[in-house]
Amino acid sequence: NILIEANNINKVYDPDLYLKRGKNFYALNNVTFTLEEADFTCIMGPSGSGKSTLLNCLSTLDRISSGELRFMENDVSAMSKDQLCEFRYQYLGFVFQNHNLIPYLSLFDNIATPAILAKEDPKKLEERIKQLANDLEITDLLNKFPHECSGGECQRAAIAHALINDPKILFCDEPTGNLDSKNSHKVLNILSKLNQQGTTILLVTHDAMIASYAKKMMYLYDGGIQSVVYKKQDSQLDF
Ligand code: ADP
Ligand code: ADP
Repeated sequence: NILIEANNINKVYDPDLYLKRGKNFYALNNVTFTLEEADFTCIMGPSGSGKSTLLNCLSTLDRISSGELRFMENDVSAMSKDQLCEFRYQYLGFVFQNHNLIPYLSLFDNIATPAILAKEDPKKLEERIKQLANDLEITDLLNKFPHECSGGECQRAAIAHALINDPKILFCDEPTGNLDSKNSHKVLNILSKLNQQGTTILLVTHDAMIASYAKKMMYLYDGGIQSVVYKKQDSQLDF
């Protein structure tokens, strides 16, 4: 099942610059890409190659300048702001480099927020949060505030927050960028496990060690896809 289909998508942040200086000012240049359900794909490439731009466009946070982008058969460019908002709540989860938790809410309330907005039944919600907290090993921290927890703990809470509405796909931009290697592996093992259970993952990193967790690696250069490498099964490095 195809989740995302991008056909010749382009992104130009500054059209004036483009007119003056030409093609080099495409942040994305004719990218064609499909993402299947249950994929774990890593977007790699040097700084400025377009990784974040591609993730932002594929995840509907930013608009493409031209080309065709379909998400579960919906034409993303044709969707209004409100439709996109609704769509994101229903199907998409986001994890960023910074955990982005709300400082004056407990971890529990942080995790609960998207589900409350989606009018989830409170009893079911509590069950779901307990389950997620258990999976992410933050059960004892649910009543704490972000400033009382470590970076790794906050990032795991941020993953719970991203998962609370049971998204089809998790978009991750340098999700371990602020973590030490022990916490990075912990987070990546969690993402791998989620992927094995069926969640699709699209992750941006410049770190080859992190990419070794993915099934497929896509290398960007100057806004274009340079190569795609599929990892052999069972070649997962064991840390
Ligand atoms: P990466 O994530 O690989 O570092 P980015 O997607 O951030 O690359 O950037 C790709 C190109 O687009 C770079 O040349 C960058 O300077 C430019 N760019 C990114 N975001 C913006 C923006 N909001 N406005 C203008 N140019 C941008
Ligand atoms: P990353 O580490 O993910 O590549 P960057 O440091 O390139 O991120 O960019 C951080 C933020 O600044 C992003 O939100 C990006 O959209 C924005 N940005 C990047 N390059 C530019 C630019 N040339 N002009 C304006 N905004 C930019």
